Amino acid sequence: MWPKLPVVSISLKKRLWAIIVLVVAYLVYIALGDLIPQYWNLIGFRSFERSILSLGFVVILLIALSGLAASEKLAARAIQDGLTGLFNQTYIKSRLQEEIYRSERYKYPLSFIMIDIDNFKRINDRHGHVVGDRVLKAFSDLLQEKIRESDVAGRFGGEEFLILLPQTSCLDAASAAERIRKEVAVYPFRIGDGSDRSCQFTISLGVYSAPASGQKVEEIINLTDAALYRAKKEGKNKVVVVVR
Ligand code: GH3
Ligand code: MG
Ligand code: MG
Repeated sequence: MWPKLPVVSISLKKRLWAIIVLVVAYLVYIALGDLIPQYWNLIGFRSFERSILSLGFVVILLIALSGLAASEKLAARAIQDGLTGLFNQTYIKSRLQEEIYRSERYKYPLSFIMIDIDNFKRINDRHGHVVGDRVLKAFSDLLQEKIRESDVAGRFGGEEFLILLPQTSCLDAASAAERIRKEVAVYPFRIGDGSDRSCQFTISLGVYSAPASGQKVEEIINLTDAALYRAKKEGKNKVVVVVR
């Protein structure tokens, strides 16, 4: 699943400007020919040179546009996890910092859910790594489907995921986590080997909410992770909420 945010890097902006300048320069060059009758004679261009120049312009424009598309893809790849299509850890951490600033400024609640798949090693052992990868992708798609548009989901590690829930209270985050837990526990994840076979697994979830003013990203992650760790210790397939 493609991340929801539009990606425009600084270099992308520069490229866009270069293209705009190129198009404007070309239009000026053409318009002057229409406005000043002696223009082409003055600059000494016959129709052959004008055709070459127009062709050159089209070629340069095509190169610039393909470069633009390539750099857009690269920028998306820099924030996206290759296997699942969710945001990667680097992005989710920087987004976390942004969301903290925003929630402090506009005084709204902010919650976090850390998820780890229970006994995922068994799925790899039973079906192999390729199926394991497929299941991880299917789980990520399901996760993305089950959260709100405004929530931000990222793959934090191997089979560990972090969801940021802006404008969400602790109570709402806890009930969202419980809903996800229940739905995952009964979901048949297709093995995807051409057969109808599927596998099932459970997840453990840690919820942390309402970070203190000025609380560091690492501290928030550790607290959410600690809640997840407790869910594991208390038997897995469970949601544990940590409140400050
Ligand atoms: P627990 O319930 O305690 O979390 O048990 P677990 O087996 O899920 O946890 P453990 O940390 O022992 O193992 C995680 C497994 O996840 C082992 C590793 O092979 C698998 N894993 C991590 N990343 C990937 C991946 O990208 N693809 C596949 N197929 N497996 C992965
Ligand atoms: Mg696990
Ligand atoms: Mg793990």
